[in-house]
Amino acid sequence: MRSQHFLKPVTSLALGALITSVAGSLSAQELPSITAQREGQRVVARAVEAAGGRAALQQLRWGKFELESQLGGGLGQGLRPESEVTLGAASRVTVRGAGSRTIYRTFNGDSLNFHYVRGGGEDWVHFAGNNTVATVDPLAAAALLDRATVSGSVLLDAIDRSETLRSLGTYEHGGVTLDVVTYSDMMGRQRTLYFDQDSGELIRVESLANHAQFGDITTSVLFTEYEEVEGARVAHTMLLRQGSVITAKTTVRSVRVDTTVDEALFEKPEDATDGPAVTAPATTTSRTLEIEELADGIFLIPNAANGYNAMFVQYGDDVLVLETPQTPQTSHDVIHAIRDRLPGSDVRWAVPTHHHFDHSGGLYGYIGHGTTIVTTEGNEQFVRDVAAAPRSIGQVDHAMRDDADVKIETFVSRRTFGDGARRVELIDVGPNPHVDEILVAYIPSIKTLLVADLYSFQGTVTPANANLLAFADRLEELDLDIETFIPVHGQRATAEQFWESIKLGREQQN
Ligand SMILES: [Zn+2]
Repeated sequence: MRSQHFLKPVTSLALGALITSVAGSLSAQELPSITAQREGQRVVARAVEAAGGRAALQQLRWGKFELESQLGGGLGQGLRPESEVTLGAASRVTVRGAGSRTIYRTFNGDSLNFHYVRGGGEDWVHFAGNNTVATVDPLAAAALLDRATVSGSVLLDAIDRSETLRSLGTYEHGGVTLDVVTYSDMMGRQRTLYFDQDSGELIRVESLANHAQFGDITTSVLFTEYEEVEGARVAHTMLLRQGSVITAKTTVRSVRVDTTVDEALFEKPEDATDGPAVTAPATTTSRTLEIEELADGIFLIPNAANGYNAMFVQYGDDVLVLETPQTPQTSHDVIHAIRDRLPGSDVRWAVPTHHHFDHSGGLYGYIGHGTTIVTTEGNEQFVRDVAAAPRSIGQVDHAMRDDADVKIETFVSRRTFGDGARRVELIDVGPNPHVDEILVAYIPSIKTLLVADLYSFQGTVTPANANLLAFADRLEELDLDIETFIPVHGQRATAEQFWESIKLGREQQN
């Protein structure tokens, strides 16, 4: 925690102006915010000059960047909640700019995983993984394209939003004097920029964010190893941090500036089908959820969050929710949809399949609601950490709770809810290469199994990967009578489709 005295006022004149304006002679003095704005603009203008000037940086908007990226899978994505984030193997990423438009591709080996496009007025993003085109709003596109942050684009963004620039003064760190400036980006996020006062180089950009699991956190990019590219100075290494944890490292391998762009790159592929619209991640607008009754008292919520199915089962006035995806807002929407569907009932228990952020991001919404979280023993401290995390940004309408109010029930291996046609069996099918502890929900009366991450089905049978093969071995031991698989990601699959995948995967292994 940095205390205030590290930041010295811009000038004593600014402080004098503040005191004078408070005293009443406002008209004669400049507002301190204007002084801070001018100083912020001066610092950024100097940084732009140090980076080669505006024209050279603007040329980079037509640049083709070959990047090498090592991803750590994000905060909280390890085998156990307390696992360190380890950076994975390097993948190749291409960012192709075309003025204000950007194409962003991620490659792993030779297979194309993602293909994001941000086109002028009509913004859409193409997920090549399942050949689906999802229309997105510009904010969601900007969030996705954020991963392609390069030093020059941050400077241009700051200077384009010059009205929002404010100097925070200077800051001494490790013998280096830093100029500190904030501005508001296109998503309305307050970003803080740190410049080396000697060289004028941008060395760090950070923003405060509301993390679904861990509350208020700082996300930052550290820029190092500046080199000259086409007259501009560009940082060649970017370290992405969430809090104090390094979650990704990106290195610029090459940059080529080319203003001739093949327009076909921005066209929707002919064989692509339209997928669900992706909404901006920080939205607080409640969504109307679809609910499908699979059997008496047993319900499916397809797309409870974008790309995440959830289920719930009614026991009198009490409801058991299976899977807690994405954000507290998602949980809020699910709780309201269930109350509309089953008046007089309330969500008494919620079960995350595993601790990964996208499957447990909704936990805080249920904790705030007073719902009991049912999970495996290894996740108890994790659930308490989620409950206790400081949260001051972008809150939904849940009151903070004392730690003592957090209701958690843990179990080892297996737990049963209800009986007869509504019996639900939670089974820990870990350890798996994906995660150490992971629950499936088996409903014997409808011969159905809800499963997250280990099995996803997009309509086409494909060979099982290592995670799925390990899961299949475990299922054979458990010997459950299953006709239908409901993956958290994707569509329902028959047992035949599931086992065909396993057969293909086992053949590939041999
Ligand atoms: Zn996972």
